[in-house]
Amino acid sequence: MKYISTRGEAPSLNFEDVLLTGLASDGGLYVPETLPEYSLDEIRSWRGLPYHELAFRILKPFVDGAIPDDEFATMLKDTYGVFGHKAVAPLAQIDHNEFVLELFQGPTLAFKDFALQLLGRLLDHVLEKRGERVVIMGATSGDTGSAAIEGCKRCKNIDIFILHPHNRVSEVQRRQMTTIAGDNIHNLAIDGNFDDCQSMVKASFGDQSFLRGERRLVAVNSINWARIMAQIVYYFYASLNLGGPDREMAFSVPTGNFGDIFAGYLARKMGLPIGQLIVATNQNDILHRVMSNNVYEKHPLAHTLSPSMDIVVSSNFERLLFDLYDRDGAVLNDLMRRLNTDAVTLDEARLAKARDVFDSYAVNDDVTVETIRTVFDETGYLLDPHTAIGVKAARETRRSAINPMITLGTAHPVKFAPAVERAGLKTPELPHHLTDLMEREERYTVLPNELQRVQAYVTDAVFG
Ligand SMILES: *Cc1c(COP(=O)(O)O)cnc(C)c1O
Repeated sequence: MKYISTRGEAPSLNFEDVLLTGLASDGGLYVPETLPEYSLDEIRSWRGLPYHELAFRILKPFVDGAIPDDEFATMLKDTYGVFGHKAVAPLAQIDHNEFVLELFQGPTLAFKDFALQLLGRLLDHVLEKRGERVVIMGATSGDTGSAAIEGCKRCKNIDIFILHPHNRVSEVQRRQMTTIAGDNIHNLAIDGNFDDCQSMVKASFGDQSFLRGERRLVAVNSINWARIMAQIVYYFYASLNLGGPDREMAFSVPTGNFGDIFAGYLARKMGLPIGQLIVATNQNDILHRVMSNNVYEKHPLAHTLSPSMDIVVSSNFERLLFDLYDRDGAVLNDLMRRLNTDAVTLDEARLAKARDVFDSYAVNDDVTVETIRTVFDETGYLLDPHTAIGVKAARETRRSAINPMITLGTAHPVKFAPAVERAGLKTPELPHHLTDLMEREERYTVLPNELQRVQAYVTDAVFG
């Protein structure tokens, strides 16, 4: 399978190279040139498969020979074998025909484990084969960093540097990153905010000369195609467990960078009957504003109780726009450039195509807290603030009472104590494998908010 850039100018790549790349050289994002499509009969034949076997069937065409089938099957079994629940992605029912898909059973208790546990293993395989070493650099406000470190901690051929804003991530989230021991793991606490961290990572990808041409940087954010790909699987899994493909499903997805929900859109294009996809945002609602009013415009960042969805722009929205604009890279190039400075209006007919399946809804902190409380009172089930936003959006925008409504449960509530406490509820216990998290030894280095200091640190650690 070939991968092409949304901006039409970068060379097309095979799976291995797309795995080892961040942004395309033209500033775009890589997407598959074509998607596999399945009949209802084929999808039906996957009923009852364990998660990793379903993953093998769905992901094999994307990996396309880069890894021998038997090794890929074993890799997937290992990847999803580390999850804390035998069903990997179990469904919890919270009302008539309404469900939460629990995507927080992985080692770091958020859905990012689904992709990053696999990404670490994919990278390890490909790098070993090529005899190559790479450097991972990523910025995190919490969930991405711990999931990336957990996913890559065993990879001999990767040095991983995760930047987080010093004193601005929760203690559980920080400890999930800083207590993982390994000579190849580097936690950098930056005296700045998340944007500062992200800017330094972006600048480093833009000019990699500090790595002396001897190493390349690999991205672990959802710019990386492999992350999106891994997330397609659980849409099929949830559907098959609720009577799909013979019933249409609706999914509500707590959204930041549009990565998770874009995977749902791809599942639909591959043939899974999905009647509705709900873009659920917090107060950082650029996606809700474009979906409802057709203005795509940056607003300043707001800090909310659902920090993993605190974004200014949604990078993966570009992948959807590419489809809406008939995969015309030149048009996308122009559109994305204008967005840097202006409010952009989309072509109404093209936006209407998106609205056939997408709805959107924005939820503020007060309503998030209220939803956590309401669902707890109704069912005894405790939602994390991100998932609560998904549930609220589902209840406000649901189109069909007949189609099962599935909200993606993106994180475990134990990671987000402030929201749970504001709802007047007790933060739950840490799961079994993390009970001693608060006692474990931490390792991180505090650095000033200066690109040169950070890059010098990386160079020094890599080339020592
Ligand atoms: C990353 C994250 C999200 C947002 O996912 P996107 O793919 O960026 O839309 C939502 N909830 C939680 C808990 C996350 O960690």
